[in-house]
Amino acid sequence: MDPASHTAADPAAIGPLTLVEYPHPALLRRARPVARLDAGLREAVEQMFEIMYESQGIGLAANQVALPYRLFVVNCAGRRGAGEEHVFINPVLSRPRGTAVQEEGCLSLPGVRMDVRRPQKIVVDAWSLEGEPVHLDIDGLLSRVVQHEFDHLEGRLFTDRLPEAAELEVRWALESFRNVFAGQQSRGEIPGSDALHASLDRLEAARC
Ligand code: ZN
Repeated sequence: MDPASHTAADPAAIGPLTLVEYPHPALLRRARPVARLDAGLREAVEQMFEIMYESQGIGLAANQVALPYRLFVVNCAGRRGAGEEHVFINPVLSRPRGTAVQEEGCLSLPGVRMDVRRPQKIVVDAWSLEGEPVHLDIDGLLSRVVQHEFDHLEGRLFTDRLPEAAELEVRWALESFRNVFAGQQSRGEIPGSDALHASLDRLEAARC
């Protein structure tokens, strides 16, 4: 977004986005359905693809860039110009079938990788950025990524889906992320949690 195109007083303003890491409050609260699809949100989706490619990700949920909206982007090829770019707005998952175990990682938990059990196939209904209905019956990597990103919208991370033994294995890593985040907040490098929630509330009020 061109910073000159809006003022700080504009409650719908999104501005430049950056990846946030666990335990940023945006990752831990349920995202709200988008009721208003405006130019600011389209520009935000463009930024999300950019950030996803730069970070070598194949999926990115809005709350991973501190936006409280039910939307995520996916490109299983992981680079611009290859594969297919998907935008899922207000997605609903249904008809889970089969079971698959696959290793997952998350841009919001860098360095943590664990096997996660999920349904193998799923149906996703959503809206595209153009406001068209999306209906896909998906399998394989796309199904895996869509389910991982959908969890983000529910305020969940893949580490919430681990069996007990594996959960113990990541507990120290999560604690270390929490310590780093608290340190950044205490040094003023990241706003305090009340300010972060206030910003999410403002963005929700503008489009939800
Ligand atoms: Zn993730």
